[in-house]
Amino acid sequence: MKKKNEITLIFDSSSENEGLARMVVAAFLTRLDPTVEEMADVKTAVSEAVTNAVIHGYEGREGTITIHSRIEGNVLEIEVRDQGVGIPDIQKAMEPLYTTKPELERSGMGFAFMEAFMDELEVQSEKGTGTTVRMKKTIYSALNLS
Ligand code: ATP
Ligand code: MG
Repeated sequence: MKKKNEITLIFDSSSENEGLARMVVAAFLTRLDPTVEEMADVKTAVSEAVTNAVIHGYEGREGTITIHSRIEGNVLEIEVRDQGVGIPDIQKAMEPLYTTKPELERSGMGFAFMEAFMDELEVQSEKGTGTTVRMKKTIYSALNLS
């Protein structure tokens, strides 16, 4: 089993940095030799979490987003953190189709995608202090790595 490896990426909240975040995590994941599908799943989950931080967390205002990612064995962990407005009711926010920004044509599916594409999803948030999204995924194509 490969030993652990960790990265931290800190960047300004802006939608143009969403692609950067996706690519950095994708590059980091490469060492686990993921399948095309596993890679696509992780990229989508990162996009959704970062987009949420930009659109909902900071609501277009300036702020910083931190991604902390860790590989241990064949498990990938990703934490996406903002210090934005926070989520008043996490359970409700995580319901499929629930959105507080229907006027921006959001569909309320971000958390549902993160849940579907990753093995574990945990959201911590407090009104006024920000939001942390933690996700985990086992990369099965890496099982044979020594
Ligand atoms: P979609 O992701 O389909 O474009 P959406 O972003 O509204 O739509 P989700 O990603 O599932 O849907 O998020 C649901 C709701 O949770 C959001 O509408 C928002 O109210 C809240 N939310 C999600 N992430 C954050 C965050 N980082 N900070 C504050 N609120 C958030
Ligand atoms: Mg979303």
